[in-house]
Amino acid sequence: MKVFVDRNACQSLKRCVELCPEIFELDAEGKARAAREDVPAQLEGRVRQAAQACSAGAIQLDKHSFQQP
Ligand code: SF4
Repeated sequence: MKVFVDRNACQSLKRCVELCPEIFELDAEGKARAAREDVPAQLEGRVRQAAQACSAGAIQLDKHSFQQP
């Protein structure tokens, strides 16, 4: 699974950072970004929680990225 943060949509609510600091971090302007796009399997649950918790809808998941062609 891959994760992306839409920087323009982010409202600096920090829920993603609280739920999964291994993946999400804030930049100097307080906007979230994904420290790494590829989400390890053991973190997928918390990254999904973060995406649901982000009321700004700024976190996008690519659920198909790991499927083989
Ligand atoms: S939860 Fe959403 S709005 Fe809040 S910092 Fe993370 S991406 Fe931005």
